[in-house]
Amino acid sequence: MAGGIFCLFFPSPCRICTSPLEHAGRLPVCRSCLEAASRPPHAPACVRCGRARDVSNRDSDPAAQGCNYCRAYPPNYDSAASALGYSGTAREIILLLKFQKVRTAAQWLARQMAPLVPAGVDFITAVPLGRKRCRSRGFNQSELIARSLGRHAGLPYRNVLQRRRETWAQAGLERDKRRHNVENAFRAHPAEANGRRILLLDDVLTTGATVNACAEVLKRAGAIAVHVITATRADLELHGLGINSTSEPSGALATPSGL
Ligand SMILES: [Zn+2]
Ligand SMILES: [Zn+2]
Repeated sequence: MAGGIFCLFFPSPCRICTSPLEHAGRLPVCRSCLEAASRPPHAPACVRCGRARDVSNRDSDPAAQGCNYCRAYPPNYDSAASALGYSGTAREIILLLKFQKVRTAAQWLARQMAPLVPAGVDFITAVPLGRKRCRSRGFNQSELIARSLGRHAGLPYRNVLQRRRETWAQAGLERDKRRHNVENAFRAHPAEANGRRILLLDDVLTTGATVNACAEVLKRAGAIAVHVITATRADLELHGLGINSTSEPSGALATPSGL
């Protein structure tokens, strides 16, 4: 009620398209922007690695549990799913959360992800930020989404992973460099991971190398299963088994990040 009256006298603009907001929702984004943001990724995903099954990554056997890419480089995680495509308004909502600290965006993203939570996981955890970045941003956006998703799905949230050092944006790096970039970047608490089925959350799935490195240390610490869930997926064109850097997302991904 108070929000409605406030809105009547001081209509605040949508933070994405700047049209006046008709309703004082908790997320300062208009209805048409939210509808545009709610679109799932364009191409269907590989159920195993979560990457787009695009033309160059086409599977000869669509019923198989994996695409050409993850058959060549099997991931350490067991499945991956993304709720939205990392483009247009969905990308704007991620940026609102990360750089304008609109924390209610985490709740909206979690609601989009809720239908994708696999059955039988013990708890949810998030890809951690480095200490420096967490301090400068004030929060880990993936942890905010994960805590909100945990409340939706009735799953506890646990901090199981730690980032030992900062890494650089994965997009644009060649495969070996991507692996080297995240090698030894994470550590897992064995007492928390051992014997558990874990849902690992990140905001954006780009190359998959970051969640793969996290899954590797979780499995080494004794996790039985690691399922990956991301709010969004940036579909990179895969040429053969390399990444085409011309199609990588720009903007936030160009800065050092957890991707
Ligand atoms: Zn709008
Ligand atoms: Zn795959």
